[in-house]
Amino acid sequence: MHIVHSISDLRAVLGPLGRPAFVPTMGNLHDGHIALMRRAVQLGEVPVASIFVNRLQFLPHEDFDSYPRTWEADCERLAAAGCQVLFAPREHDLYPEPQTFKVQPDPLLADLLEGQFRPGFFTGVCTVVMKLFCAVFAGKAQGVAVFGQKDYQQLMVVRRMVQQFALPIDIVAAPTERAADGLALSSRNGYLSPAERAQAVQLSQALRALGEAARAAGEALPARLADLEHAARAQLDASGWQTDYLAVRSRRTLQAPQPGDALVVLGAARLGTTRLIDNLEV
Ligand code: AMP
Repeated sequence: MHIVHSISDLRAVLGPLGRPAFVPTMGNLHDGHIALMRRAVQLGEVPVASIFVNRLQFLPHEDFDSYPRTWEADCERLAAAGCQVLFAPREHDLYPEPQTFKVQPDPLLADLLEGQFRPGFFTGVCTVVMKLFCAVFAGKAQGVAVFGQKDYQQLMVVRRMVQQFALPIDIVAAPTERAADGLALSSRNGYLSPAERAQAVQLSQALRALGEAARAAGEALPARLADLEHAARAQLDASGWQTDYLAVRSRRTLQAPQPGDALVVLGAARLGTTRLIDNLEV
């Protein structure tokens, strides 16, 4: 596995090689990331990963400084999964000067759910993903990038960005990898105390229950939506969580569902100081 830090070194390595299949990450890799990498190995000619904790997508009070960094273990896991090139820019490689040009995502998609509770988050995500895409795919006629459904809204925002900028990159979605009890794997799970970890499955359970209630409501869902979401949230909060949102949305738009829409249930909540997100198509 080639490990490169600068954009110029990355381009020198990738130049003579074929179509990249790219997995962007923030490191502290778990089985979810590795499943994405294995998918990339199946899809492209040159499996490429990046590790970069992107300051632009963290709010000032969030966990940028304490975000777990596990460099050695990450390198071993990526190499074992078949990664051929690892791009690990230092901050000055990606942002040699303040990144004053930014990618502004469509507010209809990016200002709700995560975007409502983390203002500017998707601008930070889009800006770094666009920059990583420019670094990895420059000079390539075609490429593919793999993103996890765990970050459902992020996947949709990136897809729309690629579509609107006509980037020659296929975006492939990979399903959410879960622990045996159903908790979605996440780098932030490592922040949980043993007691919190035992309780953490309640988030996916709440999504499942809300999804079942939404399906059972059938045609009456638009009228009952607010009550169902409110009850789900009250139950999670009563178990000691601080819920940001539990929402039933149209898979296509992430807006409140219209009759006949395919549904996704999305949630974000804090257990102690750890904020977890998850979603379920229902
Ligand atoms: P992150 O390192 O958290 O920025 O995530 C990098 C990529 O891994 C994103 O495309 C995530 O959606 C994906 N990912 C994170 N957790 C999981 C999971 N449990 N299952 C599948 N993909 C995941």
